[in-house]
Amino acid sequence: MALIVQKFGGTSVGSVERIEQVAEKIKKFRDGGDDIVVVVSAMSGETNRLIDLAKQISDQPVARELDVMVSTGEQVTIALLAMALIKRGVPAVSFTGNQVRILTDSAHTKARILQIDSQRIQRELKAGRVVVVAGFQGVDGKGNITTLGRGGSDTTGVALAAALKADECQIYTDVDGVYTTDPRVVAKARRLDKITFEEMLEMASLGSKVLQIRAVEFAGKYSVPLRVLHSFQEGPGTLITLDEEESMEQPIISGIAFNRDEAKLTIRGVPDTPGVAFKILGPISAANVEVDMIVQNVAHDNTTDFTFTVHRNDYNSALQILQTIATEMGAREVIGDTDIAKVSIVGVGMRSHAGVASRMFEALAKENINIQMISTSEIKVSVVIEEKYLELAVRALHTAFELDAPAGKTAE
Ligand code: ADP
Ligand code: ASP
Ligand code: MG
Repeated sequence: MALIVQKFGGTSVGSVERIEQVAEKIKKFRDGGDDIVVVVSAMSGETNRLIDLAKQISDQPVARELDVMVSTGEQVTIALLAMALIKRGVPAVSFTGNQVRILTDSAHTKARILQIDSQRIQRELKAGRVVVVAGFQGVDGKGNITTLGRGGSDTTGVALAAALKADECQIYTDVDGVYTTDPRVVAKARRLDKITFEEMLEMASLGSKVLQIRAVEFAGKYSVPLRVLHSFQEGPGTLITLDEEESMEQPIISGIAFNRDEAKLTIRGVPDTPGVAFKILGPISAANVEVDMIVQNVAHDNTTDFTFTVHRNDYNSALQILQTIATEMGAREVIGDTDIAKVSIVGVGMRSHAGVASRMFEALAKENINIQMISTSEIKVSVVIEEKYLELAVRALHTAFELDAPAGKTAE
Protein backbone atom coordinates (compact mmCIF):
# COMPACT_ATOMS: atom_id res chain seq x y z
CA MET A 1 0.00 0.00 0.00
CA ALA A 2 1.42 3.33 -1.04
CA LEU A 3 0.96 6.84 0.33
CA ILE A 4 0.34 9.28 -2.48
CA VAL A 5 -0.08 13.05 -2.37
CA GLN A 6 -2.23 14.27 -5.25
CA LYS A 7 -2.53 17.97 -6.09
CA PHE A 8 -5.34 19.22 -8.34
CA GLY A 9 -4.99 22.67 -9.91
CA GLY A 10 -7.57 25.40 -10.49
CA THR A 11 -9.05 24.23 -13.80
CA SER A 12 -9.28 20.66 -12.47
CA VAL A 13 -11.58 21.88 -9.67
CA GLY A 14 -13.06 24.75 -11.72
CA SER A 15 -16.71 23.63 -11.42
CA VAL A 16 -18.87 21.33 -9.31
CA GLU A 17 -18.88 18.80 -12.19
CA ARG A 18 -15.08 18.75 -12.27
CA ILE A 19 -14.89 18.37 -8.49
CA GLU A 20 -17.20 15.34 -8.79
CA GLN A 21 -14.89 13.95 -11.50
CA VAL A 22 -11.86 14.47 -9.26
CA ALA A 23 -13.69 12.68 -6.43
CA GLU A 24 -14.35 9.71 -8.77
CA LYS A 25 -10.68 9.56 -9.64
CA ILE A 26 -9.59 9.66 -6.00
CA LYS A 27 -12.13 6.93 -5.16
CA LYS A 28 -10.48 4.64 -7.74
CA PHE A 29 -7.05 5.12 -6.13
CA ARG A 30 -8.56 4.59 -2.69
CA ASP A 31 -10.35 1.42 -3.83
CA GLY A 32 -6.96 0.22 -5.08
CA GLY A 33 -5.75 0.37 -1.46
CA ASP A 34 -3.57 3.48 -1.46
CA ASP A 35 -3.55 6.10 1.27
CA ILE A 36 -4.35 9.46 -0.30
CA VAL A 37 -3.68 13.03 0.77
CA VAL A 38 -5.19 15.54 -1.65
CA VAL A 39 -4.17 19.17 -2.07
CA VAL A 40 -6.45 21.48 -4.04
CA SER A 41 -6.24 24.97 -5.51
CA ALA A 42 -9.09 27.45 -5.61
CA MET A 43 -11.54 27.16 -8.54
CA SER A 44 -9.89 28.65 -11.63
CA GLY A 45 -10.24 32.42 -11.77
CA GLU A 46 -11.21 32.66 -8.09
CA THR A 47 -7.85 33.91 -6.77
CA ASN A 48 -7.76 36.59 -9.48
CA ARG A 49 -11.34 37.58 -8.65
CA LEU A 50 -10.46 38.00 -4.97
CA ILE A 51 -7.34 40.04 -5.75
CA ASP A 52 -9.40 42.29 -8.05
CA LEU A 53 -11.89 42.86 -5.23
CA ALA A 54 -9.09 43.98 -2.92
CA LYS A 55 -7.72 46.30 -5.61
CA GLN A 56 -11.08 48.04 -5.75
CA ILE A 57 -10.45 49.12 -2.17
CA SER A 58 -6.77 49.96 -2.52
CA ASP A 59 -4.02 49.85 -5.17
CA GLN A 60 -1.75 48.26 -2.63
CA PRO A 61 -3.92 46.29 -0.23
CA VAL A 62 -2.42 45.46 3.15
CA ALA A 63 -0.69 42.12 2.59
CA ARG A 64 -1.96 40.52 5.81
CA GLU A 65 -5.57 41.22 4.90
CA LEU A 66 -5.05 40.16 1.30
CA ASP A 67 -3.89 36.77 2.60
CA VAL A 68 -6.94 36.46 4.85
CA MET A 69 -9.08 36.96 1.77
CA VAL A 70 -7.32 35.01 -0.99
CA SER A 71 -6.95 31.96 1.25
CA THR A 72 -10.75 31.59 1.19
CA GLY A 73 -10.64 30.29 -2.40
CA GLU A 74 -9.00 27.05 -1.32
CA GLN A 75 -11.24 26.73 1.73
CA VAL A 76 -14.24 26.40 -0.59
CA THR A 77 -12.72 23.68 -2.77
CA ILE A 78 -11.46 21.48 0.10
CA ALA A 79 -14.95 21.40 1.59
CA LEU A 80 -16.64 20.68 -1.76
CA LEU A 81 -14.21 17.88 -2.57
CA ALA A 82 -14.57 16.31 0.90
CA MET A 83 -18.38 16.41 0.46
CA ALA A 84 -18.11 14.81 -2.99
CA LEU A 85 -15.93 12.01 -1.58
CA ILE A 86 -18.21 11.36 1.40
CA LYS A 87 -21.20 11.24 -0.96
CA ARG A 88 -19.41 8.39 -2.77
CA GLY A 89 -18.89 6.47 0.45
CA VAL A 90 -15.22 7.48 0.74
CA PRO A 91 -14.48 8.70 4.28
CA ALA A 92 -12.81 12.10 3.92
CA VAL A 93 -11.96 15.17 5.96
CA SER A 94 -10.80 18.65 4.90
CA PHE A 95 -8.22 20.87 6.60
CA THR A 96 -7.06 24.44 6.10
CA GLY A 97 -3.33 25.23 6.27
CA ASN A 98 -3.80 26.44 9.81
CA GLN A 99 -5.52 23.22 10.92
CA VAL A 100 -2.80 20.94 9.53
CA ARG A 101 -0.34 23.42 10.83
CA ILE A 102 1.67 24.37 7.82
CA LEU A 103 3.96 26.78 9.62
CA THR A 104 5.44 29.55 7.44
CA ASP A 105 7.43 32.72 7.91
CA SER A 106 5.50 36.01 8.04
CA ALA A 107 6.24 37.21 4.48
CA HIS A 108 2.59 37.72 3.52
CA THR A 109 1.72 36.86 -0.13
CA LYS A 110 5.06 35.07 -0.61
CA ALA A 111 5.58 33.11 2.59
CA ARG A 112 7.97 30.18 2.85
CA ILE A 113 7.06 26.92 4.56
CA LEU A 114 9.20 26.36 7.67
CA GLN A 115 7.66 23.23 9.14
CA ILE A 116 4.69 20.92 8.79
CA ASP A 117 3.11 19.22 11.75
CA SER A 118 1.76 16.14 10.04
CA GLN A 119 0.45 14.31 13.15
CA ARG A 120 -3.16 15.21 12.54
CA ILE A 121 -2.98 14.01 8.94
CA GLN A 122 -1.30 10.77 10.04
CA ARG A 123 -4.11 10.14 12.55
CA GLU A 124 -6.79 10.69 9.92
CA LEU A 125 -5.02 8.41 7.45
CA LYS A 126 -4.80 5.68 10.11
CA ALA A 127 -8.53 6.06 10.65
CA GLY A 128 -8.98 5.30 6.94
CA ARG A 129 -9.87 8.79 5.71
CA VAL A 130 -8.78 10.64 2.62
CA VAL A 131 -7.30 13.93 3.84
CA VAL A 132 -8.05 17.00 1.72
CA VAL A 133 -5.71 19.94 2.43
CA ALA A 134 -6.02 23.54 1.21
CA GLY A 135 -3.13 24.47 -1.06
CA PHE A 136 -1.37 27.84 -1.18
CA GLN A 137 -1.88 28.71 2.51
CA GLY A 138 -0.20 28.42 5.87
CA VAL A 139 0.02 30.13 9.21
CA ASP A 140 2.88 32.08 10.78
CA GLY A 141 4.22 31.77 14.33
CA LYS A 142 1.72 34.38 15.55
CA GLY A 143 -1.29 32.65 14.04
CA ASN A 144 -1.68 34.95 11.01
CA ILE A 145 -2.88 33.36 7.77
CA THR A 146 -0.21 33.48 5.06
CA THR A 147 -0.10 32.51 1.38
CA LEU A 148 2.79 31.05 -0.60
CA GLY A 149 2.79 33.09 -3.82
CA ARG A 150 0.87 32.47 -7.05
CA GLY A 151 0.85 28.82 -8.04
CA GLY A 152 1.71 27.95 -4.43
CA SER A 153 -0.52 24.87 -4.16
CA ASP A 154 2.18 22.93 -6.01
CA THR A 155 4.51 23.76 -3.13
CA THR A 156 1.94 22.67 -0.53
CA GLY A 157 1.66 19.33 -2.33
CA VAL A 158 5.39 18.71 -2.49
CA ALA A 159 6.02 19.93 1.07
CA LEU A 160 3.31 17.61 2.41
CA ALA A 161 4.76 14.72 0.42
CA ALA A 162 8.18 15.45 1.95
CA ALA A 163 6.79 15.75 5.50
CA LEU A 164 4.74 12.53 5.17
CA LYS A 165 7.54 10.71 3.30
CA ALA A 166 5.00 9.90 0.61
CA ASP A 167 5.83 7.43 -2.14
CA GLU A 168 4.99 9.97 -4.85
CA CYS A 169 3.67 13.49 -5.31
CA GLN A 170 1.38 13.72 -8.33
CA ILE A 171 0.59 17.16 -9.74
CA TYR A 172 -2.65 16.90 -11.75
CA THR A 173 -3.29 19.76 -14.15
CA ASP A 174 -4.77 20.71 -17.53
CA VAL A 175 -1.85 19.39 -19.63
CA ASP A 176 -0.61 15.80 -19.69
CA GLY A 177 2.92 16.58 -18.52
CA VAL A 178 5.85 18.93 -18.88
CA TYR A 179 6.41 19.88 -22.50
CA THR A 180 9.45 21.13 -24.40
CA THR A 181 7.73 24.52 -24.21
CA ASP A 182 4.23 25.81 -23.38
CA PRO A 183 1.97 23.68 -25.64
CA ARG A 184 -0.53 26.56 -25.74
CA VAL A 185 2.04 28.67 -27.60
CA VAL A 186 3.81 26.07 -29.72
CA ALA A 187 1.47 23.45 -31.17
CA LYS A 188 4.45 21.23 -32.01
CA ALA A 189 5.65 21.11 -28.38
CA ARG A 190 6.47 17.59 -27.22
CA ARG A 191 5.72 15.97 -23.85
CA LEU A 192 8.83 14.89 -22.00
CA ASP A 193 8.84 11.49 -20.28
CA LYS A 194 11.45 12.77 -17.84
CA ILE A 195 13.16 16.02 -16.96
CA THR A 196 15.88 16.56 -14.33
CA PHE A 197 15.19 18.66 -11.23
CA GLU A 198 17.92 21.02 -12.33
CA GLU A 199 16.32 21.62 -15.73
CA MET A 200 12.83 21.88 -14.27
CA LEU A 201 14.12 24.43 -11.78
CA GLU A 202 15.55 26.55 -14.61
CA MET A 203 12.37 26.17 -16.69
CA ALA A 204 10.21 27.23 -13.71
CA SER A 205 12.42 30.15 -12.76
CA LEU A 206 12.55 31.34 -16.39
CA GLY A 207 8.79 31.44 -16.76
CA SER A 208 7.25 27.97 -17.29
CA LYS A 209 4.42 28.11 -14.80
CA VAL A 210 3.49 24.43 -15.03
CA LEU A 211 5.20 24.01 -11.63
CA GLN A 212 5.89 26.68 -9.04
CA ILE A 213 9.64 27.09 -8.61
CA ARG A 214 9.57 26.48 -4.85
CA ALA A 215 7.79 23.19 -5.40
CA VAL A 216 10.67 22.03 -7.59
CA GLU A 217 13.24 23.30 -5.06
CA PHE A 218 11.50 21.36 -2.27
CA ALA A 219 11.21 18.20 -4.33
CA GLY A 220 14.92 18.32 -5.20
CA LYS A 221 16.00 19.07 -1.64
CA TYR A 222 13.93 16.30 -0.04
CA SER A 223 14.12 13.86 -2.98
CA VAL A 224 10.35 13.73 -3.42
CA PRO A 225 9.39 11.65 -6.46
CA LEU A 226 7.39 14.16 -8.48
CA ARG A 227 5.16 13.61 -11.51
CA VAL A 228 3.03 16.00 -13.60
CA LEU A 229 -0.11 14.42 -15.06
CA HIS A 230 -3.40 15.33 -16.75
CA SER A 231 -6.35 15.36 -14.34
CA PHE A 232 -8.81 13.74 -16.71
CA GLN A 233 -6.73 11.84 -19.30
CA GLU A 234 -4.82 8.63 -18.71
CA GLY A 235 -1.09 8.70 -19.40
CA PRO A 236 2.35 8.45 -17.81
CA GLY A 237 2.85 12.23 -17.49
CA THR A 238 6.35 13.57 -16.83
CA LEU A 239 8.65 12.37 -14.07
CA ILE A 240 10.95 14.96 -12.53
CA THR A 241 14.08 12.97 -11.82
CA LEU A 242 17.47 13.24 -10.17
CA ASP A 243 19.43 11.20 -12.65
CA GLU A 244 20.99 12.86 -15.61
CA GLU A 245 21.43 10.10 -18.16
CA GLU A 246 24.52 10.73 -20.23
CA SER A 247 23.12 9.02 -23.27
CA MET A 248 24.24 10.15 -26.71
CA GLU A 249 20.63 10.54 -27.78
CA GLN A 250 20.00 13.02 -24.99
CA PRO A 251 18.97 16.27 -26.68
CA ILE A 252 21.21 19.26 -26.00
CA ILE A 253 18.20 21.42 -25.20
CA SER A 254 15.36 19.98 -23.13
CA GLY A 255 13.05 22.95 -23.24
CA ILE A 256 12.34 26.56 -24.02
CA ALA A 257 10.93 28.90 -21.37
CA PHE A 258 9.74 32.46 -21.76
CA ASN A 259 8.21 35.27 -19.78
CA ARG A 260 6.57 38.58 -20.42
CA ASP A 261 6.83 39.76 -16.84
CA GLU A 262 9.96 41.89 -17.06
CA ALA A 263 10.75 45.48 -18.02
CA LYS A 264 14.04 47.06 -19.01
CA LEU A 265 15.67 50.21 -17.67
CA THR A 266 18.73 52.00 -19.04
CA ILE A 267 20.73 54.84 -17.56
CA ARG A 268 22.83 56.49 -20.26
CA GLY A 269 26.05 58.47 -20.06
CA VAL A 270 26.96 57.77 -16.44
CA PRO A 271 30.44 59.11 -15.49
CA ASP A 272 32.52 55.91 -15.40
CA THR A 273 34.09 55.69 -11.97
CA PRO A 274 34.61 52.74 -9.61
CA GLY A 275 31.42 51.91 -7.75
CA VAL A 276 28.99 52.87 -10.55
CA ALA A 277 27.12 49.55 -10.42
CA PHE A 278 26.71 49.81 -6.68
CA LYS A 279 25.55 53.42 -6.84
CA ILE A 280 22.87 52.45 -9.34
CA LEU A 281 21.75 49.09 -7.99
CA GLY A 282 22.21 49.83 -4.27
CA PRO A 283 19.10 52.04 -4.02
CA ILE A 284 17.16 49.67 -6.28
CA SER A 285 17.84 46.73 -3.99
CA ALA A 286 17.22 48.88 -0.89
CA ALA A 287 13.71 49.40 -2.29
CA ASN A 288 13.28 45.59 -2.37
CA VAL A 289 13.24 45.50 -6.17
CA GLU A 290 14.83 42.36 -7.58
CA VAL A 291 17.09 42.81 -10.57
CA ASP A 292 17.40 40.03 -13.14
CA MET A 293 19.65 40.66 -16.17
CA ILE A 294 22.36 43.32 -16.14
CA VAL A 295 24.51 44.75 -18.94
CA GLN A 296 27.14 47.46 -18.58
CA ASN A 297 28.74 48.76 -21.74
CA VAL A 298 32.44 49.51 -22.13
CA ALA A 299 33.10 53.20 -21.58
CA HIS A 300 34.44 55.27 -24.46
CA ASP A 301 34.15 58.96 -23.50
CA ASN A 302 34.59 58.33 -19.76
CA THR A 303 30.91 57.53 -19.48
CA THR A 304 29.07 54.24 -19.53
CA ASP A 305 25.55 52.94 -20.26
CA PHE A 306 23.98 50.61 -17.71
CA THR A 307 20.93 48.43 -18.47
CA PHE A 308 19.00 46.01 -16.26
CA THR A 309 15.64 44.27 -16.05
CA VAL A 310 13.12 44.11 -13.19
CA HIS A 311 9.66 42.60 -12.75
CA ARG A 312 7.03 44.72 -14.51
CA ASN A 313 5.26 45.24 -11.18
CA ASP A 314 8.38 47.04 -9.95
CA TYR A 315 8.94 49.05 -13.13
CA ASN A 316 7.42 52.35 -11.97
CA SER A 317 9.21 52.41 -8.64
CA ALA A 318 12.54 51.42 -10.27
CA LEU A 319 12.11 54.17 -12.88
CA GLN A 320 11.55 56.79 -10.21
CA ILE A 321 14.59 55.69 -8.24
CA LEU A 322 16.71 55.68 -11.38
CA GLN A 323 15.66 59.19 -12.31
CA THR A 324 16.79 60.46 -8.91
CA ILE A 325 20.10 58.61 -9.23
CA ALA A 326 20.63 59.97 -12.74
CA THR A 327 20.33 63.55 -11.50
CA GLU A 328 22.67 62.90 -8.58
CA MET A 329 25.29 61.21 -10.77
CA GLY A 330 25.05 63.65 -13.68
CA ALA A 331 23.98 60.94 -16.13
CA ARG A 332 22.69 61.89 -19.59
CA GLU A 333 19.27 60.20 -19.57
CA VAL A 334 17.08 57.35 -18.30
CA ILE A 335 15.12 55.16 -20.72
CA GLY A 336 12.51 52.55 -19.85
CA ASP A 337 10.93 49.81 -21.96
CA THR A 338 8.10 47.50 -20.92
CA ASP A 339 7.57 45.89 -24.34
CA ILE A 340 10.17 43.20 -23.84
CA ALA A 341 10.14 39.46 -23.34
CA LYS A 342 12.75 36.98 -22.19
CA VAL A 343 13.26 33.72 -24.04
CA SER A 344 15.51 31.00 -22.62
CA ILE A 345 16.80 27.66 -23.83
CA VAL A 346 17.48 25.12 -21.08
CA GLY A 347 19.33 21.81 -21.09
CA VAL A 348 21.94 19.89 -19.11
CA GLY A 349 23.31 18.76 -22.48
CA MET A 350 24.78 22.27 -22.89
CA ARG A 351 27.55 21.32 -20.47
CA SER A 352 29.06 18.94 -22.98
CA HIS A 353 28.28 20.76 -26.22
CA ALA A 354 29.86 23.91 -27.60
CA GLY A 355 28.18 26.37 -29.93
CA VAL A 356 24.69 26.17 -28.41
CA ALA A 357 24.41 29.93 -27.87
CA SER A 358 25.54 30.74 -31.41
CA ARG A 359 22.99 28.28 -32.80
CA MET A 360 20.34 30.17 -30.81
CA PHE A 361 21.53 33.55 -32.12
CA GLU A 362 21.60 32.22 -35.69
CA ALA A 363 17.98 31.00 -35.45
CA LEU A 364 16.87 34.41 -34.16
CA ALA A 365 18.89 36.27 -36.80
CA LYS A 366 17.21 34.22 -39.54
CA GLU A 367 13.87 35.58 -38.33
CA ASN A 368 15.29 39.11 -38.16
CA ILE A 369 14.76 39.26 -34.39
CA ASN A 370 17.03 41.70 -32.64
CA ILE A 371 18.63 40.57 -29.35
CA GLN A 372 18.73 43.33 -26.74
CA MET A 373 20.40 41.51 -23.84
CA ILE A 374 21.99 38.11 -23.27
CA SER A 375 22.76 36.12 -20.15
CA THR A 376 24.09 32.58 -19.79
CA SER A 377 24.66 29.99 -17.12
CA GLU A 378 25.91 26.42 -17.28
CA ILE A 379 22.60 25.01 -18.49
CA LYS A 380 20.72 27.96 -19.99
CA VAL A 381 20.98 30.88 -22.40
CA SER A 382 18.48 33.74 -22.06
CA VAL A 383 17.86 36.65 -24.41
CA VAL A 384 15.70 39.74 -24.15
CA ILE A 385 13.81 40.63 -27.32
CA GLU A 386 10.94 42.87 -28.34
CA GLU A 387 7.73 41.38 -26.94
CA LYS A 388 5.90 41.26 -30.26
CA TYR A 389 8.41 38.68 -31.56
CA LEU A 390 8.09 36.35 -28.58
CA GLU A 391 5.98 33.61 -30.15
CA LEU A 392 7.93 33.71 -33.41
CA ALA A 393 11.19 33.40 -31.47
CA VAL A 394 9.99 30.45 -29.38
CA ARG A 395 8.72 28.60 -32.46
CA ALA A 396 11.92 29.26 -34.42
CA LEU A 397 14.09 28.01 -31.56
CA HIS A 398 11.88 24.97 -31.02
CA THR A 399 12.46 23.99 -34.65
CA ALA A 400 16.15 24.95 -34.71
CA PHE A 401 16.91 22.70 -31.72
CA GLU A 402 14.94 19.83 -33.27
CA LEU A 403 12.34 19.73 -30.53
CA ASP A 404 9.25 19.70 -32.79
CA ALA A 405 6.92 16.72 -32.34
CA PRO A 406 6.47 14.46 -35.37
CA ALA A 407 3.28 15.27 -37.29
CA GLY A 408 0.15 13.96 -35.53
CA LYS A 409 1.79 13.75 -32.10
CA THR A 410 0.97 17.13 -30.65
CA ALA A 411 -0.97 18.09 -27.48
CA GLU A 412 -4.77 18.00 -27.75
P1 ADP B 1 -2.87 24.52 -12.45
O1 ADP B 1 -4.02 25.44 -12.31
O2 ADP B 1 -3.27 23.08 -12.63
O3 ADP B 1 -1.83 24.70 -11.38
P2 ADP B 1 -1.24 26.07 -14.29
O4 ADP B 1 -2.01 26.96 -15.20
O5 ADP B 1 -0.58 26.67 -13.11
O6 ADP B 1 -2.20 24.87 -13.86
O7 ADP B 1 -0.12 25.29 -15.11
C1 ADP B 1 -0.45 24.55 -16.25
C2 ADP B 1 -0.18 25.41 -17.50
O8 ADP B 1 1.22 25.63 -17.62
C3 ADP B 1 -0.54 24.74 -18.79
O9 ADP B 1 -1.89 24.96 -19.10
C4 ADP B 1 0.41 25.39 -19.81
O10 ADP B 1 -0.21 26.40 -20.58
C5 ADP B 1 1.47 26.06 -18.94
N1 ADP B 1 2.85 25.71 -19.31
C6 ADP B 1 3.87 26.60 -19.47
N2 ADP B 1 4.99 25.99 -19.82
C7 ADP B 1 4.71 24.67 -19.91
C8 ADP B 1 5.48 23.51 -20.23
N3 ADP B 1 6.78 23.59 -20.55
N4 ADP B 1 4.87 22.30 -20.21
C9 ADP B 1 3.56 22.20 -19.88
N5 ADP B 1 2.78 23.26 -19.58
C10 ADP B 1 3.34 24.48 -19.58
N1 ASP C 1 -5.03 29.60 -6.12
C1 ASP C 1 -3.65 30.06 -6.11
C2 ASP C 1 -3.32 30.80 -7.38
O1 ASP C 1 -4.18 30.98 -8.23
C3 ASP C 1 -2.69 28.94 -5.85
C4 ASP C 1 -2.62 27.88 -6.92
O2 ASP C 1 -3.50 27.79 -7.78
O3 ASP C 1 -1.65 27.10 -6.90
O4 ASP C 1 -2.21 31.25 -7.56
MG1 MG D 1 -0.28 26.12 -11.14
